Amino acid sequence: MSVSALAESILTKYEPVIGLEVHVQLGTKTKIFCSCPVEFGSSPNTNVCPVCLGLPGALPVMSRQAVELAISASLALHCTVNPFSRFARKNYFYPDLPKGYQISQYDQPLAEHGYLDIVTEAGKKRIGVTRVHMEDDAGKSIHDGFKDSDKYTYVDLNRSGTPLIEIVSEPDMRSADEAHAYLTEIKQVIQYIGVSDCDMEKGQLRCDANVSVRLKGAPKFGTKVEVKNVNSFRFVKQAIEYEIERQVELVERGGTIDQESRLYDSNSGVTIGMRSKEHAHDYRYFPEPDLVPLRVSDHWLGEVKKRLPELPADRRDRFVSEYGLREYDAQVLSVTRATGDYFEIAAKASGDGRTTSNWVVGDLMGLLNAGGKEIESSPISAEHLGELVSLINKGDLSGKLAKEILPKMFETGDSASVIMEREGLKQISDTDALERMADEVIDANPKQAEQYKGGKTALLGYLVGQVMKASRGQANPAVVTEVLKKKLG
Ligand code: ADP
Ligand code: ZN
Ligand code: MG
Repeated sequence: MSVSALAESILTKYEPVIGLEVHVQLGTKTKIFCSCPVEFGSSPNTNVCPVCLGLPGALPVMSRQAVELAISASLALHCTVNPFSRFARKNYFYPDLPKGYQISQYDQPLAEHGYLDIVTEAGKKRIGVTRVHMEDDAGKSIHDGFKDSDKYTYVDLNRSGTPLIEIVSEPDMRSADEAHAYLTEIKQVIQYIGVSDCDMEKGQLRCDANVSVRLKGAPKFGTKVEVKNVNSFRFVKQAIEYEIERQVELVERGGTIDQESRLYDSNSGVTIGMRSKEHAHDYRYFPEPDLVPLRVSDHWLGEVKKRLPELPADRRDRFVSEYGLREYDAQVLSVTRATGDYFEIAAKASGDGRTTSNWVVGDLMGLLNAGGKEIESSPISAEHLGELVSLINKGDLSGKLAKEILPKMFETGDSASVIMEREGLKQISDTDALERMADEVIDANPKQAEQYKGGKTALLGYLVGQVMKASRGQANPAVVTEVLKKKLG
């Protein structure tokens, strides 16, 4: 079955509907209900205790930091944080789940009714966030086995008890691109507020995609299929695209969609049925008897809110209004907190946000990329970049010279003024000095000087260039132009 051969005209009769369930690992040092460290890559089963091993009689104790991070995330997703929420047991058997249940939240989650704005080529769109709830992670089953046998599965319980939030979206997305943009935005916001690194390779962010299709204009949603645990944004997009076409083709052939869970195989690019509704879990949720309900007082909520940094979308808007940046530059500069902080310090030092943003987005990011460095460890400090821009604006440094000095600043970590001093590179605006140079250039280029006088004014650029060259780029080109014009009448 070649799903991708599906004619575009058929595909466009249908509307995909997508809702995402995103798990984010909270960046605490310890687990959610015990004091075992959360560490990636430790030797198997070394970060465990009776609580996270699920030994009988061990009692969970809630991590305050985990709750605060979950509240921060909820606020950043514009959710209402419930003053009263409750934990529930989600019962199922799995070898890497020693308790026999996950501690999650069910009918009374931490937070609800939020949203996130996404930007795609089609423009801005608001995606509803149904709820944010807290839960503990299970351990890990490793199916690799040893060299010459894969008949063993190994269980590592280091991850057991790692704090997670699950962010459930409304079925508001209508394309794989929107789903991709939503995930990108979630990751950016969560990283920004310091709730998680969202490193997908370490499983810190995981996504289940719910997909259905319906004829355009149909009043009801189609039956959804859940594609579980896709481990990169690119694969989420591919899995959704595949799933849309598979469902459309099935419906077109008169079939019906089973409500089921499927897995995406990134090697073959297809989704594969995993379990159908008939085999769906009945988790037998009931209130967790070992934990008291979670109360979030107005005071506590206020404290967490106060500590929340400005969100990226707000910062983006402020960069446009406060510094007069272009939307695109504001977007680039607010992608990470460090980039935005760097820009603001530099802009304050230079007093010229627009020019500063050009230098950060253009030259500086180019140097950082080429040098494989993050802006946090930029050898050019934000203050030094700001100084460079103000030297240009004061006329002490030409733009051309500045472009030559910047890589030297990057290499040495020195400021522009220190490098100019050391290399004798000050821009020459002194008219006497420039007049002397202009005279020399006119003497050396009598033909061009005559032609200019005769009306070939385009030659002025050439003559200015000669003076610039003679001054090793240090002459102030605006002053040179004036001097030459005067001399040649
Ligand atoms: P379930 O009870 O099966 O877990 P939920 O109503 O809790 O279903 O929804 C789970 C996720 O599936 C949510 O992100 C929601 O937006 C999404 N979803 C619900 N119905 C549909 C649908 N018909 N098509 C696509 N996604 C859907
Ligand atoms: Zn433990
Ligand atoms: Mg659900």
